[in-house]
Amino acid sequence: MTASAAAAVAIPFARPWITDREREAVMEVLHRDVLTHGPENQAFEREFAAFIGGGHCVAMSSCMAALHLAYMQLGVGPGDDVLVPAQTHVATAHAVEAVGARPIFVDCVPETGNIDPALLEAHLTAETRAVSLVHFLGIPCPMDEIVAFAEQYDLFVVEDCALAVGATYRGQHVGLAGDVGCFSFYPVKHITTGDGGMLVTRHADLAARVTSARGFGVDRTFVDRTIPGLYDVPSFGLNYRMSDINAALGRVQLARVGEILERRQRNFARLKALVAQATNVRVLDSHDPDCKSSHYCLTAVLTGQAAAERNAVIGRLKAAGVGTSIYYPQPVPRMTYYAEKYGYDAARYPNATAISDHSIALPVGPHLSEAEIDIVGRAFLEALEGISQ
Ligand SMILES: *Cc1c(COP(=O)(O)O)cnc(C)c1O
Repeated sequence: MTASAAAAVAIPFARPWITDREREAVMEVLHRDVLTHGPENQAFEREFAAFIGGGHCVAMSSCMAALHLAYMQLGVGPGDDVLVPAQTHVATAHAVEAVGARPIFVDCVPETGNIDPALLEAHLTAETRAVSLVHFLGIPCPMDEIVAFAEQYDLFVVEDCALAVGATYRGQHVGLAGDVGCFSFYPVKHITTGDGGMLVTRHADLAARVTSARGFGVDRTFVDRTIPGLYDVPSFGLNYRMSDINAALGRVQLARVGEILERRQRNFARLKALVAQATNVRVLDSHDPDCKSSHYCLTAVLTGQAAAERNAVIGRLKAAGVGTSIYYPQPVPRMTYYAEKYGYDAARYPNATAISDHSIALPVGPHLSEAEIDIVGRAFLEALEGISQ
């Protein structure tokens, strides 16, 4: 973004929170000779495992890369079906497409935007091999129900945790209840490595296969080679590594994650209290005490008269200097690529459609002070005035 574009919005929707500690850590790597698959990568993987409280962690070039390798190494491919949430980032579905399998889209529950466990059974086919889910906006899915369903039908569970660093279900960090969890470190996610991701899994053998596949499928990295340059390729692979420059940035961000999550929680609670003063709005959130959200943003779904005025409300917020976004702008099956390939039946996704077409995502990131949150909340209430009654 240019300086002038940034200045147009006084309160941006999101902004990476980088300090001198991150800058110094990156510069330190640039004074070394090992720039990728080196010590920073291994330390970041260890520290991420310690943070989530278990599992094997494999640092990747992005969450999309992690999702792709997850399906590839689980052996999901052509002829297989995967249940996919209709309301999610397109990456959740693209990963299924990438291995030649077919996504079968499932609507969400209106309260949280998470995949509706009650609908899973009706979408099963004889070819279904896996169920995927997204912890929507950092709100954990009810994993007990989803894992029980998967066990009953012998399906893999793939968790898209891109917005869920810090989110827990029944005290366990998300990403560990399923077979695979994939995190994103894109600049505006909870912590960033520039671009980057992390695949986590309880299965040691799967972690080993993913580790090999992220580096061309070679049997040893240059660190493990006794004769320089000598290696074999026992399996297929890609280059989905994270560089040590990125990993060094991520390690400092991870060390600061407690502070980052506290600010998000504080901002979310403060903004929710303000937004709740409007009558024609509902806020996506979980009321389940087992679900601890990581508060990616505050998504306000406009109801009644206000629903049809969503874009006008966004325009008023923009004029007031408040940055907003939409998560996500279409149910994935309505995106042109998927609609053209599989056809689109709007009636199947009423809840995902309501979120896409009637919601506004308001900022709660750690870049915002309480005073700025108050400005966002008041601007939102004012933008709704006149169309809200
Ligand atoms: C951002 C995001 C992704 C993609 O993450 P990348 O690291 O950019 O590949 C995938 N899923 C969800 C839910 C996301 O929000």
